[in-house]
Amino acid sequence: MSTGLKENLKDLDRASHLHPFTPPATLSQQGPSLIAEGKGIYVKDTAGKDYIDAMAGLWCVNIGWGREEVAEAISAQIKKLAYYHAFAGFGTEPTAELAARVLKLLPIPMSKIFFGNSGSDANDSNIKMVWLYNNLRDKPQKKKIIARQRSYHGVTVVAASLTGLPHMHKAFDLPLDFVKHTHNPHYYTCAPEGMSERDWSQHLANELEALILAEGPDTIAAFIAEPLMGAGGVILPPEGYFEAIQPILSKYDILLIADEVICGFGRLGTWFGSGYYNLKPDIITIAKGLTSGYVPMSGSIISEKVWDVLVTAESKLGGFNHGFTYSSHPVAAAAGLANLDIMERENLVGNSQKVGAYFQRKLREAFSDHPLVGEVRGVGLVAAVEFVKDKAKKTPFDLTQKVAVRMNKHCLSEGVISRALPLANAMSFSPPLIITEAECDEVIARFAKALINSLTNLCVKVFGVSFLYKIEGSTTTLISIDLSPLVLSRGEFLNF
Ligand code: PLP
Repeated sequence: MSTGLKENLKDLDRASHLHPFTPPATLSQQGPSLIAEGKGIYVKDTAGKDYIDAMAGLWCVNIGWGREEVAEAISAQIKKLAYYHAFAGFGTEPTAELAARVLKLLPIPMSKIFFGNSGSDANDSNIKMVWLYNNLRDKPQKKKIIARQRSYHGVTVVAASLTGLPHMHKAFDLPLDFVKHTHNPHYYTCAPEGMSERDWSQHLANELEALILAEGPDTIAAFIAEPLMGAGGVILPPEGYFEAIQPILSKYDILLIADEVICGFGRLGTWFGSGYYNLKPDIITIAKGLTSGYVPMSGSIISEKVWDVLVTAESKLGGFNHGFTYSSHPVAAAAGLANLDIMERENLVGNSQKVGAYFQRKLREAFSDHPLVGEVRGVGLVAAVEFVKDKAKKTPFDLTQKVAVRMNKHCLSEGVISRALPLANAMSFSPPLIITEAECDEVIARFAKALINSLTNLCVKVFGVSFLYKIEGSTTTLISIDLSPLVLSRGEFLNF
């Protein structure tokens, strides 16, 4: 394709395409970056620049780009049967096979999968199933859902309501009032100074119980949580968190929905986050890694306990009146099966655990001591580096400074795609699960350069002595030496 035509496509895009989660006026001015191709962990834009996509797209291309095997499976399925629905007792071969196969991979026995097309619609389906469950149990008042601040569950009206990110609420008159948000569990930013992780978990559990009692246990239907929060900041549950929370949910007959849209399919080094954190959910949301994003597909997986009630919908209500035209799509299911073949044959869950441990260690070695890095965190192949204005006091940068968003620019010029998590002032990593240790080193090297390029002043500490340098282009000049350990950690160091 000629360069002229590529430029023309950018103009066409700018003129005609409303991009998700993109500042519209800025995009109209600057135009998009069109990604043209991908292979392994790399993608290339239409200008020919290569990037390591250390986010696997949006935390989803677990098997990496350019897998011929998936392309062939999709093509074969389209030639054989491009579409059939699953309404009124119909179904297709790949969907039946995929449902059975996913159930076998789960860490706990579950009963059935309802397939959708996105994580958002799966969470909407989950809530409808929870409501149906309680209607069928003659508990029509038991409908509220507890979600957590900083969680991300999607963008549809219900899923965005569950999400605990204020910028997804205010402009859209959300959340709907049946959703109640409880505290986010981030130990580093939220726990009182000196409190242990276990005590913090117990505190959060007490707070949850108080909320349930204040609302009335008979009105609360479910609690939804990502095993490890992704888009809200790569927030790990503190030690003992789910251990403290789950008995409270059981005590008040509240269902647990584990949103595994990011954690599922190997991200944490186990097939599911529920396995990693020992969760016993009643409903599980899956998407992303189910097909590695080659074709959209999601799933709502229900336990035997929920199924035993839902099955009575037929005698009591005449049926299960829910489903999408593209539920159980055979082409998506064929992609899912080929995706699982690759994941199993190449032991990508094992790779996520092994290379993930290396990546986590190297990230900490490279950035934990940086004066503007408050916390490096993560599990398996998901991680974040959080920036702070004052490391000693853990003072965050003002969110209006958009530290992480601005840092993106420097990452892109270094050829690494990370993702800014604005509410956390953090940059996140969630690379394809095929990544090698050498490639992790390259991600870290590029990120380190981006970090240096984003500084006007750099402080290097040697044996407790701080050397402060001024950086102008490629020239670095020593401007002061300070024997006190804390001259650093100020916002002015950042050059965005
Ligand atoms: N749930 C979680 C945990 C997610 O991370 C996401 C998307 O990132 C969703 C739900 C929504 O999925 P989708 O964007 O496919 O609607």
